[in-house]
Amino acid sequence: MKASFLSLLALIACATNSFAAEKPNFVIIFCDDLGYGDLSSFGHPTIKTPNLDTMATEGQKWTNFYVAACVCTPSRAGLLTGRLPVRNGMCSDTRRVLFPDSSGGLPTTEITISSALKKSGYHTAAIGKWHLGHLPEFLPTKHGFDSYFGIPYSNDMDPIRRVNPIKAAEEENWEAYNLPLMRDEEIIERPVNQTTITRRYTEEAVKKIEGFGDEPFFIYLAHNLPHIPLFRGKDFKDTSTAGIYGDVVEELDWSVGEIRKALEKSGVSENTLVIFTSDNGPWLPFKQHGGSAGMLRDGKGSTWEGGMREPTIIAWPGIIQPGIVHDMGATLDLLPTFVSLAGGTLPDDRTYDGVDLSATLKGETDTSPRDEMFYYHGEQLFAVRKGQYKAHFKTKTSYSGQKKAEVHNPPLLYHLGSDPGEQWDIAKQHPDIVKELQDLSASHTKGVKPVPNNLNGVIGK
Ligand code: MG
Repeated sequence: MKASFLSLLALIACATNSFAAEKPNFVIIFCDDLGYGDLSSFGHPTIKTPNLDTMATEGQKWTNFYVAACVCTPSRAGLLTGRLPVRNGMCSDTRRVLFPDSSGGLPTTEITISSALKKSGYHTAAIGKWHLGHLPEFLPTKHGFDSYFGIPYSNDMDPIRRVNPIKAAEEENWEAYNLPLMRDEEIIERPVNQTTITRRYTEEAVKKIEGFGDEPFFIYLAHNLPHIPLFRGKDFKDTSTAGIYGDVVEELDWSVGEIRKALEKSGVSENTLVIFTSDNGPWLPFKQHGGSAGMLRDGKGSTWEGGMREPTIIAWPGIIQPGIVHDMGATLDLLPTFVSLAGGTLPDDRTYDGVDLSATLKGETDTSPRDEMFYYHGEQLFAVRKGQYKAHFKTKTSYSGQKKAEVHNPPLLYHLGSDPGEQWDIAKQHPDIVKELQDLSASHTKGVKPVPNNLNGVIGK
């Protein structure tokens, strides 16, 4: 009797696991301008992030995880499509991101994570910053999301008059920005009180998790913060020793805790992959309001490591092998990974720049299938990484007033294993590696076909 009860339990466990293998849920928590060094699990000495630290212990902490671009719009286009922004016209040397007067957006010919998962029967929700086109034809609801709740672009846009974002943050002057809050395709509030926004996005995510129940779902939660101007809720005001920036990151950490608690409460925690990362590095000119890339060089807007390597944690209790992954991964890999985990296949009518990380996540292999990374600044390839070596063909310090990129011929070469801060150029000692990376860059560039630009258009022009 006991044996048959145990076999029944085993059968149930097996059925549950096979269900988990077939249709896991996915939650992406995507911050805005969070630096590599801004979490305590990534070495910040004063900002407290206990929920993320727990998630890092229970899941995988990725120390070489990249974004598709060093600024908001192209980074998001890369994450959602699994393709470098240069392939879908979502990057530009003229206008680096979309603005409230932009007429363009992510073309609906692109397949997003959401539209791909919808085909496999998923419920989908976008919450937070979109920044892939605020006009009706480009909204999340046109890209495979069942619902949308959020601010369609950056939280420093639509200023009512010229405002100093540091002063606005210190004075909690959220009314200085005429930002819209949208529900699906309608503006429901304007200006939105940004001191409530992290909490409201969190509550929306929790409500969605509760509502989806046992049905498979994908939630894309893209926080507007810690992008400047910094706003935090009343419960987090002046609570961090790291100042306003610390308050904001600690509220984001609270949000992660609430979402993981909701997954537990709904009984879907063991069937849900949660990834936490950010769209680009810290906005350094804003000093204490701008976060830190830790020991990595430079920040947002640059193709040095600090601009494109992000603190990344992935958890899926019972499935993901806990540990630290030092190999490379990228937000570009999420679409192929999720599609594979959901039991789907990628269409073969387009080029993907992402790879399937599922074997690394499950601990079936010690290595990641990603061995290369291409660093774009607008439409131009500035740098290439293969293994531990990175060559810079061009560099431009972010937001420094440096007008033109500096061209390096021969390129600068760094060994990111022994020199993660990119301090010591070793090109002269390794001409063979320089040549290999030059060839890699040339063959990559040859494979990128020119497409219409979707960032430069302005409404009415
Ligand atoms: Mg950003």
